[in-house]
Amino acid sequence: MKAMVVREWGSPSILEVVSHPKPGPGEAVLKVKAAGVGLTLLNMRNGSFGGSAPRIMGHELGGDIVEVGAGVSSLSIGQRCAVYFYLTCGRCRWCCGGRETLCENFGGFVGVHRDGGFAEYVCLPVENFLPIPDGLSYEAAAIATDAVNTNWHCMRERAKINPHDSVLLIGAGGGVGIHGVQVAKLFGARVIAADVSDEKLALAKTWGADETINVKNNPNLVEAVMQMTQGKGVNAAIDYVGHGSTFQMAYDSLSISGRAVVVGVGKGDISINPRKLMLSEKIITGSRHSTRTELIETMEVMARGIIKPVVGMTRHFSEIENIFDAIKNETLLGRGSLTYE
Ligand SMILES: [Zn+2]
Repeated sequence: MKAMVVREWGSPSILEVVSHPKPGPGEAVLKVKAAGVGLTLLNMRNGSFGGSAPRIMGHELGGDIVEVGAGVSSLSIGQRCAVYFYLTCGRCRWCCGGRETLCENFGGFVGVHRDGGFAEYVCLPVENFLPIPDGLSYEAAAIATDAVNTNWHCMRERAKINPHDSVLLIGAGGGVGIHGVQVAKLFGARVIAADVSDEKLALAKTWGADETINVKNNPNLVEAVMQMTQGKGVNAAIDYVGHGSTFQMAYDSLSISGRAVVVGVGKGDISINPRKLMLSEKIITGSRHSTRTELIETMEVMARGIIKPVVGMTRHFSEIENIFDAIKNETLLGRGSLTYE
């Protein structure tokens, strides 16, 4: 089959012909029909998620089951499925308790620790395939599996967004952030979108942001947030960038009892005054991807058209490097999408 192979981390993926995957016991093979592409993949390709190369990347996937291994009865040939990103044990206290992204026996990521779907076919454990509901396209299902479900978990379980909340999204115009705007609005919040380009902020506005702040023109984000909230701050701040500098701004923008949640993976630390933290009862936390249940819920909500995939660029999977270039140049608006025909 044809596949985009990363020979070593840090180098571009190249089109190769590799052997067709054979499913072992408990595994199945998906013919890939659509894939999503975002910044996380570039970080993976640079080696920052570990794993070994050569590797076929790609974890935001939708397609059809074409083959199942021995003992598999939970999937049928021809079934439309999306791919769950994390390789978890399914047995530890976190997996059993509905917090499987904290799995004690974490096996890594699809597309990093075993081959993913920037190829015609992908072979994974059956637990990593979830049915796509009727009415949801392969492309929308693919984008649900990281760019949208990450927000579902973040807004509901970690930031605990309510209709009376003001929420700051740092990096709101990125591939995950733009879907975060939609999810935060769905939970009824007033959304303040911050990003570094007018194009990205215009997109955030299109998808429901109430106010926007261009951090390039207005580097004092905290002051701008305070002005917009009568000096009170926001009830929640979500940081899609994840640098110490951005998360510090998220934390400093909070109101009393506000929640700062980091979703992005960046560099650097923040500084916190414990006395002020005690007096304000602010909460600092992370939000790690989503559970399978949350992915199922996300796809159901998307099938009803309440949250829509925001795709800024579509290419054939053999041209994925074009999308990576757009991400590097910060010209990609929303998610990238791959076709396989
Ligand atoms: Zn586990």
